[in-house]
Amino acid sequence: MQPFRLPQDLHIHTTYSQYDGSVVPEQSAELIARVRHAEIIGISDHFEHFADSLYDNYVHDLRALGLWVGTEVDGAGSVDFASSLHFDYYIYHCYDRDADYRAVEKLLATGSPVIIAHPNALDTNLNRVPGQCLVELNNRYVWRCDWMRFYGPHRQRFRFVINSDAHQPLWLGQSVARRAAAELGVQEVSITDL
Ligand SMILES: [Zn+2]
Ligand SMILES: [Zn+2]
Repeated sequence: MQPFRLPQDLHIHTTYSQYDGSVVPEQSAELIARVRHAEIIGISDHFEHFADSLYDNYVHDLRALGLWVGTEVDGAGSVDFASSLHFDYYIYHCYDRDADYRAVEKLLATGSPVIIAHPNALDTNLNRVPGQCLVELNNRYVWRCDWMRFYGPHRQRFRFVINSDAHQPLWLGQSVARRAAAELGVQEVSITDL
C-alpha cells in the first residue's frame, strides 16, 4: 500500500541551506525524493546559502531527482541577483520595508511565480503586495498568529499555496497549515496550473 501523499509542497530546505542551523545532515534532496510525501515537490533552499558557487549543482541535482527548482530569497538585497538566475518559482521574504515591496515587481518580471513566504512571521503588510503573488500558508509559522484575522481579509485578492517549510525529515507535513486553509475556505493552487 502506498502511503498517503499531500498534493503539493513547494517550501522545503535541504543541506544546500548550508548556514541554516535547523537543517539536519540527513535532509538531502535524495531523501526527500525517496520519502515522496507530496505529489508535487519543490525545493526552496535559501538563495544566499548556495547561489554564489553552487547554483549549477543545485539545479542539476534537483532536476535529476524530478523535483521542482525553487529558492527562498531574503528581502530586497538579494533580488537583483536572484532574478538574474532561472528558478521555477521564488519564495520571498517580504519584510515590512518599502524596498522589499518594490523588489517584488522585479521578481514578478521574471515570469516565474512568486510566493510570499510566511507573511505573518515577517509582519508583511499584504495590502502592499501585488495580487499576482501567491500567499503561503506555512506549517512552521501559521499557528503563530490568529490566522482568520491575519489572512481572512485577503482571501479574495490572492491565490494561496500550502507548504511545510521542512528543515528536517520529520517536518515533511502540513497539518496545521491545512487546518488553517480549511477554516479560511481557501483552495490551494497547483504550480502546474500557473
Ligand atoms: Zn522563511
Ligand atoms: Zn524556508
